[in-house]
Amino acid sequence: MVDVDEKTLKKGERYYKAGKVLWVVKYGDRLFSKVLGTYPYYVEINTSTGENRCTCPLGGDCKHVAAVMKAHENGFYFETFEEHAELFPEAVAMEFLAEVPELALNVTIKELRFALNTDESGSEVARLFRRAVLLLRSLDRPEVLHVLEEVLEEYRHVFKDYRLTERLEEEFRKLRNG
Ligand SMILES: [Zn+2]
Repeated sequence: MVDVDEKTLKKGERYYKAGKVLWVVKYGDRLFSKVLGTYPYYVEINTSTGENRCTCPLGGDCKHVAAVMKAHENGFYFETFEEHAELFPEAVAMEFLAEVPELALNVTIKELRFALNTDESGSEVARLFRRAVLLLRSLDRPEVLHVLEEVLEEYRHVFKDYRLTERLEEEFRKLRNG
């Protein structure tokens, strides 16, 4: 079994409920996941043995692992039979998300907000912003337009002289005008 105390379990549950578990890929008896904590962390759990790993400083048996267990319990996972899930779980997750643009957009917005606070070059923000714009084109989500506007405003503030800023503004204008 996963070896976490009651307190960690509760923290994990809160993480899951707050939507910090971005995706979970299930392959056989193994779970792979990305969880947004202080940084994004990658989690791997063997559900048969309870063995688990996390890229956070604790290395495992942590609230991120508990959050992924909670997500799994609640049916929040994609099941795959593709062997490369072991090596490239994130790529597999993206393939699944591509089929569910609504969920893909939610994940992108979460990553975008996070990148805005941590990405020093701004290129990750730009990449995620583009992905959000593309997803938004296929979805009717006016409230997300507002979120993107705020992100762009903040981005503009930080990267004033950045050429990318202009291009992002241009893409955003096109999106607004349909
Ligand atoms: Zn962890």
